[in-house]
Amino acid sequence: MKADLHLHTTASDGKLRPEEIVRKASQLGLDVIAITDHDSVEGIPPALEAAKSFPQLLVIPGVEINTDMPQGEVHILGYFIDYQDPELNHSLEEMRNSRYERGRKMIAKLADMGMDIDWERVLELASGGTIGRPHIAQAMVERGYSSSLQEAFAKYIGRNGSAYIERKKLTPLDAVELILNAGGLPFLAHPADIAHLEALVPRLKKAGMAGLEVYYANYSPSKIARLQALARRYNLITSGGSDYHGLDNTIGANIGSVDLPPKSVEQFISLAERRRTVIP
Ligand code: AMP
Ligand code: FE
Ligand code: FE
Ligand code: ZN
Repeated sequence: MKADLHLHTTASDGKLRPEEIVRKASQLGLDVIAITDHDSVEGIPPALEAAKSFPQLLVIPGVEINTDMPQGEVHILGYFIDYQDPELNHSLEEMRNSRYERGRKMIAKLADMGMDIDWERVLELASGGTIGRPHIAQAMVERGYSSSLQEAFAKYIGRNGSAYIERKKLTPLDAVELILNAGGLPFLAHPADIAHLEALVPRLKKAGMAGLEVYYANYSPSKIARLQALARRYNLITSGGSDYHGLDNTIGANIGSVDLPPKSVEQFISLAERRRTVIP
């Protein structure tokens, strides 16, 4: 049983279209994937449609919501969501609108700093999906203002960069609630990156969080062991994925490259089977 439960498409800052991700996952022999775009569920219908041609592959509807705490960003994954839920869609649309405004402001700030980036080009790179800083970073690299996405983040558009601008974000607790209300299961994404993890996990568990993304991109065995212990302590399910974006090798890993223990996948599937929304 091979799974990858964290994948981005052109509906957010991934390079491949949903149908291309589905085809690639199938070619790689994966049994289960989840589409988890930032603040968007728009990749799910085309992914489910494409999955009809690959009956051995289960495609789980998901989302990744970027939230904020004073200590830093926290990403919440929602699995098995009802992607047609009106309240979920309304909230996601608000987040995308705020990303659009923030993106324009960052372009203006870069212009003030002498870096001329065409907003239309950023929109083109986002191909109608959720606008993210990786799109701005790509436009910066194209224009020669940075040599890599990583450098664009480090110098200009990362949290401590000179052109960084905040946007309105939910708190992790709000995101957990939003996902639960849309019939989904909230998971904490790439938890090892969170500084205040030990304090955050019990609060989110109390709010209804279902699990932790223990197996992630290039997490070391010691990181994984620490997260497994945390999951056990709070009776949380474990998940995992590559966070594949396909932009360059600084964000996430390759599709299907993260080893998820079969037992973890089985627990995940049994949850899927209990939720009729999942299996198309
Ligand atoms: P945003 O969604 O606009 O807040 O941008 C965050 C996204 O940018 C993350 O989900 C990653 O895909 C990507 N990202 C974050 N940090 C970096 C970095 N240092 N280098 C390259 N990409 C990054
Ligand atoms: Fe991303
Ligand atoms: Fe993330
Ligand atoms: Zn992600």
